[in-house]
Amino acid sequence: MENETLFTEEAEPPGSSTGLVGIENYTDDILTAYNTLLNPSVIKTKGVQYVFRFKESPRTRAFRKRFYPEVTSLEWSNWYWQYVNRIKDVDALSQFIWLSEDERNAMSPHEGSIPVAITPYYASLLDEFDSAQPLRRMVVPVTGEQHRSAVEADDPLGEEHDSPVPGIVHRYPDRVLFLVTDTCSAYCRYCTRSRMVGSHGRAISSTDAWEGAIEYIEANTQIRDVLLSGGDPLTLSDEKLEWLLGRLRKIAHVEILRIGTKMPVVLPQRITPKLTYMLKRFHPLWMSIHVNHPDELTPEMSQACTRLANAGIPLGSQTVLLSKINDDVETMKRLVLGLLKIRVKPYYLYQCDPIPGSSHFRTPVKAGLDIIEGLRGHTTGYAVPTYVIDAPGGGGKIPLIPDYAVGRDGNDLMLRNYEGNIYRYPDCQLSQTDNP
Ligand code: SF4
Repeated sequence: MENETLFTEEAEPPGSSTGLVGIENYTDDILTAYNTLLNPSVIKTKGVQYVFRFKESPRTRAFRKRFYPEVTSLEWSNWYWQYVNRIKDVDALSQFIWLSEDERNAMSPHEGSIPVAITPYYASLLDEFDSAQPLRRMVVPVTGEQHRSAVEADDPLGEEHDSPVPGIVHRYPDRVLFLVTDTCSAYCRYCTRSRMVGSHGRAISSTDAWEGAIEYIEANTQIRDVLLSGGDPLTLSDEKLEWLLGRLRKIAHVEILRIGTKMPVVLPQRITPKLTYMLKRFHPLWMSIHVNHPDELTPEMSQACTRLANAGIPLGSQTVLLSKINDDVETMKRLVLGLLKIRVKPYYLYQCDPIPGSSHFRTPVKAGLDIIEGLRGHTTGYAVPTYVIDAPGGGGKIPLIPDYAVGRDGNDLMLRNYEGNIYRYPDCQLSQTDNP
């Protein structure tokens, strides 16, 4: 048992609020799991009661006390409570922040393809007055989402073209993307899968719906790597996720499993000891965490990543380059160095995909190259992600790096280092290596 998950019960009494709002609208996963809210994990030993609970940062605690005075820290740290109480419309959101006219117009009524949902935890990180705050821009819609430009497409990466069976995207030879749900705990306004998130519900996250995809993986022996994505696979119940991982683990040629998730960022309470205990059984299991801004690196997120890392799960980050959110060296440096401190390797920096209504998020490619240039050599190599464009039309990820090879002089390769100094490297010619 991890010591960091044990907290003595506070003097605060149990809340009377169940926090259930419109529960009939939720999936079976959430409904089943929610039952444990009333029976949280409690350990009694020598007269002292311990509960599994999340640490709460001072900012988040102050938010809870102000806006959810009836909700105890125990309820707040329960991921089902967070999920069921997500903020989804203009009336609810305007109770927490002063919406700009543009935000209000975008939400009443909301017309874009991406639903609105913000967990109370993530809402606690939003600036109350500043609509330009990076975290706020990532989850609160603006009217720019409704303007589709000529270069934008519903499925810019051509995933549906590379889908041999429902739920599977098979683009690269030895690995597949398995879209196991369309549900997320919070919806990002720039989501690559805006065409599908939040629209199908149970239809794609049932074990029946997964059968065809599992059979496809079983039949294609070159698949050694399965990446579970969606939507967010960690919105599934522990039981259903365990079932799926168990089925995939039985396939002899599947060497590694991966999960792509934003839960540690928007709902870190999801990373329970029970979840990590279950995930450990399916190693080698890797996890990619979608994180974009250093202000998302809270004590709560740190605790979630600590639990995952302590379960032996290698963690990488996936970051989307977003205009006026993280498109400068200083912000990105704070992010990548902060990630290393919580044992997350900065993995990919993505150019924002041209989904409909994304022009206010997209940056020139030069911004990404400048960031890589500002990191490489200036800080730890582990901190430097690979900058990629996922090629429109289904070309896959194409890495971009600043030009460090600046030319040739005879057999010598002329190289530029991170300080701009030029160095000469005596390159081997093929004929020399062939005829020593
Ligand atoms: S968490 Fe991922 S799948 Fe869900 S809305 Fe954000 S980017 Fe899209």
